[in-house]
Amino acid sequence: MEYLRMSVTDRCDMKCAYCMPTGGAERAEGCDMLKFSEFLTLAEIFARMGVRKIRLTGGEPLVRKGILGFVRALGRVPGVEQIALTTNGVRLPRMAAELKEAGIDTLNISLDSLRPDRYAAITGLDTLTQTLDGIRAALAARFERVKVNVVVMKGVNDDEIAAFARMSLSLPVQVRFIEFMPATPSVWSEARFMNIDAVRAAVEEIGELTPATPQQWGGPAKVYRLPGAAGEVGFIAAVSRHFCDDCNRLRLTSSGKLMTCLFGKEDLDLAASLRGGADPRTIADSITAALAVKNAVRTLPGDPHDRTRPSMTCIGG
Ligand code: SAM
Ligand code: SF4
Repeated sequence: MEYLRMSVTDRCDMKCAYCMPTGGAERAEGCDMLKFSEFLTLAEIFARMGVRKIRLTGGEPLVRKGILGFVRALGRVPGVEQIALTTNGVRLPRMAAELKEAGIDTLNISLDSLRPDRYAAITGLDTLTQTLDGIRAALAARFERVKVNVVVMKGVNDDEIAAFARMSLSLPVQVRFIEFMPATPSVWSEARFMNIDAVRAAVEEIGELTPATPQQWGGPAKVYRLPGAAGEVGFIAAVSRHFCDDCNRLRLTSSGKLMTCLFGKEDLDLAASLRGGADPRTIADSITAALAVKNAVRTLPGDPHDRTRPSMTCIGG
């Protein structure tokens, strides 16, 4: 296990319907956010166990005060070789250069529509211009890689697949199409789901796809390049295909629970261990025990009305 995702806050300035629990960002009971010092202690334990890449996510990681100092501290943890961050991009025009300087290596920016009215309807914020400026600011800051995450929803934004794919022709970004996952049961429906093969077919109408060079810790995306493109396109079959066998990621929720599978439940309360005074060795042993169940192939949350799962903002996507 070399890749850890940390949800550093369940708070967010947006309210994307497919992600937020119905009713908005009310903090779930018991969803008490970890302090940065606690995240750091856990990062040191994970790094000693072999984790090399850490992705900061949320909620919106850039709304958490002190995030730049935390990134700098994370960069000093022995063994951590790459720090990535996933953001809705709104604060990037101001923060891209500072994030690069603090030690973020790669950036994923979420963007589900290029039309201002639709963007506002999906996110609850009228900030398409800021996010597009944020992508430009990220490119200007010269991160190792900039990726644009697009969740494809039938009847919502599937008519923009070609426009997003064309973004990779002129900009050196990787545009990644992601299948819509049933994270928020009240919003997900079979009718809104679009299989990644159909998304890929729509992209292939623009031109032939050539496989791109795989990246270290690249994750489950299948990545290609359109003819003459400056960037790449990627496809993530988050729902239609199981990639459990070679899944290399662990998740730490904003409240300090370890999840060994996005579709599982919380496997281990690391916050409770830390606060109860457990020593690093004991915590590492409990993580090893939790990992023993990781490679079992899971299914999507079976019951769409199961409210015992933490929200996507708590898990971090
Ligand atoms: N606020 C940041 C952002 O939006 O990029 C980081 C957190 S967000 C939970 C991380 C990723 O999860 C985003 O790319 C978002 O699009 C994705 N996501 C959230 N809900 C999803 C869903 N139901 N299906 C697929 N992806 C989802
Ligand atoms: Fe916030 Fe990101 Fe979820 Fe949208 S996808 S509500 S920006 S955490």
